[in-house]
Amino acid sequence: MSKVVKFGGSSLANAEQFKKVGDIIRADETRRYVVPSAPGKRFKDDTKVTDMLYACYDLAEAGKDFKKELQAIADRYREIINGLKLDLKLDDEFQTIEKNFKAGAGSNYAASRGEYLNGIIMAAYLGYEFIDAATVIFFDEDGNFDAGKTNRVLSKKLAKCDRAVVPGFYGSMPDGTVKTFSRGGSDVTGSIVAKAARVDVYENWTDVSGFLIADPRIINGPEKIEVITYRELRELSYMGATVLHEDAIFPVRQEGIPINIRNTNAPEDSGTWIVGSTCQKSRYVITGIAGKRGFCSINIEKDMMNSEIGFGRKVLQAFEENGISFEHVPSGIDTMTVFVHQDEFMHKEQKVVAGIHRLVQPDSIEIESDLALIAVVGRGMKSMRGTAGRIFAALAHANVNVKMIDQGSSELNIIIGVADDDFEAAIKAIYDIFVVTKL
Ligand code: ASP
Repeated sequence: MSKVVKFGGSSLANAEQFKKVGDIIRADETRRYVVPSAPGKRFKDDTKVTDMLYACYDLAEAGKDFKKELQAIADRYREIINGLKLDLKLDDEFQTIEKNFKAGAGSNYAASRGEYLNGIIMAAYLGYEFIDAATVIFFDEDGNFDAGKTNRVLSKKLAKCDRAVVPGFYGSMPDGTVKTFSRGGSDVTGSIVAKAARVDVYENWTDVSGFLIADPRIINGPEKIEVITYRELRELSYMGATVLHEDAIFPVRQEGIPINIRNTNAPEDSGTWIVGSTCQKSRYVITGIAGKRGFCSINIEKDMMNSEIGFGRKVLQAFEENGISFEHVPSGIDTMTVFVHQDEFMHKEQKVVAGIHRLVQPDSIEIESDLALIAVVGRGMKSMRGTAGRIFAALAHANVNVKMIDQGSSELNIIIGVADDDFEAAIKAIYDIFVVTKL
């Protein structure tokens, strides 16, 4: 049995948090590979080290003095090292960083130093080997993650190392320069390491005890999700539920390795398990609810549209030509509606409308803004009758007007479009009916 354990920024924000992490790792000897983030916020209005690094590099790039800002970053690490009573000095590392900043090493390099330095401290604290991610995680010429090369090199390296720390968030380009994943990318590194080491579990330690059924900013104290499948998670994270980086699913999914989301501040909690498939039923018919605001619908009407071959393609072409991606396209006999992100669509609106006129000569086009989409997700819905009925009864009861319904063919989710103003009431009504009253 072996595990990869990834710790997020808040789990490593100061020496006290580092100690909790040390205790967690030492409590289970199968926790062999550790992937740390950079130190995060110590309190609400604090600044993450990654953000300090970006800001510091901006100064360097503009040719301004950045000594004070770099010193503030060095202080964050010194505080951790002293608090852990480690015999470790990062002076040489900071000299190199300063030199590279002056030489224009790039903001990717700058940001990556947060994880790099935290990895050095973590390795010293645990007595584990330190592996610089730049030597084992690779991007190709186009800047895309090179899964093949990474897996070859990394699995070979890990086979020779019993216990190691691999800093998250970055790797290297074919020319050796450092490149990072997008923000929150240490989750991705954890998944890549888990795949390469073929571990049994990828533990992702953060500051919450797992995924919640609904957003706690909308539902007061929502219940936790015990087990969720990768596919369900994809649907929910796409719709705004954030705990894990979207791309973190893919490497472990290919190997069938489960992810266990855990809380560094409450290690006794079992957290949420993310798995490929499971025979475990979720406690409720639905697994989770998530949603996003800020959509527009473009409703196109044309008599006899149903018999016009290529109509849908041409409508979507008008969006494509303007670089706008669509979210949902519910259609009727003589109508077709396209849901898009309002901020993407707004400033290109008239161009798209003109394009639709040119391409399909519709009878009318109507645009509605300030819409929200809500996804009700659950593997249990497939085998249950009346789920949609219950959702819509609850929404009607809460006085919410439903503007769009879209059930994916997988029967894994039902997407509902409502007015922005009804967004919270709709989520509350759905949570209530399935979780609180368990109807
Ligand atoms: N430190 C990086 C960030 O703040 C990456 C991570 O924490 O996963 O985005």
